[in-house]
Amino acid sequence: MPRLKVLILGGTTEGRELAAACAGRFMTVSSLAGRTGSPIIPAGELRIGGFGGPGGLADYLRASRIQAVVDATHPFAATMTEHAAAATAAVGVPLLVLRRPGWIEQPGDDWQRVATVGAAAAALKPGRVFLTTGRQEIGAFAGRYDCSFLARSVEPPVPPMPLNLEVLIDRGPFTVGGEKRLLAGMDVLVTKDSGGADAKLVAARELSVPVIMIDRPAIPAVPTVASVGDAIRWLNTIDLLV
Ligand code: NAP
Repeated sequence: MPRLKVLILGGTTEGRELAAACAGRFMTVSSLAGRTGSPIIPAGELRIGGFGGPGGLADYLRASRIQAVVDATHPFAATMTEHAAAATAAVGVPLLVLRRPGWIEQPGDDWQRVATVGAAAAALKPGRVFLTTGRQEIGAFAGRYDCSFLARSVEPPVPPMPLNLEVLIDRGPFTVGGEKRLLAGMDVLVTKDSGGADAKLVAARELSVPVIMIDRPAIPAVPTVASVGDAIRWLNTIDLLV
């Protein structure tokens, strides 16, 4: 009989894979922020929407009798990770971060690493830009009237947006061939260092398109694993302790 009750902070492939791997072993509640209108639904129980800051999350953990939290949010969802660290510390619930490894530059790549989306916008030279940073921070590029943008996102962006903007609504997985068709004729690819499937980076390498790579934000020092298997092993350990 499943015993441990686990909150999975999700919104990622890893979050869904973990929820599926927990089925029959642990009780899970997956939490989504509610940013996308048609999210892919994970296995187990689901809740949608913010908690109302670290205090709201702490209240939720107590009220729902959560015994372990796995933060499987996107590497750039740093606010949620900070809140998870604060709330679990306050309530005394163990927290694990499940985060896919970042990308590493390969021979043939031409990358420029920058610290923020704003720094990526500042680093652009005039030209055609393939923008894959998601819709939320597209406003950072609005002042670059000397660039034209092809921006890909799951949901349509909202203003402020660059004037010279073409939007492509799409969700991965993507193929190297498809990415090469989109990148042909582009002067630069702008991406966050999300890690995971890297078809756009392979395509950029093969077409010699330079890449502006936005570094991950810092997160609190929390036990971290990179695979669903390691997260399950951690949960098994916690399960023995409760
Ligand atoms: P964020 O900036 O770190 O979080 C902002 C607020 O959104 C949080 O304080 C929290 O609200 C709420 N929130 C975030 N993730 C949540 C979750 N899984 N469940 C419930 N509430 C959540 O987050 P974000 O960058 O906007 O990302 C939002 C969601 O999209 C995350 O689930 C993330 O995994 C996913 N995502 C993000 C990116 C990205 O590039 N940032 C890319 C792909 C997917 P309260 O303070 O009210 O609790």
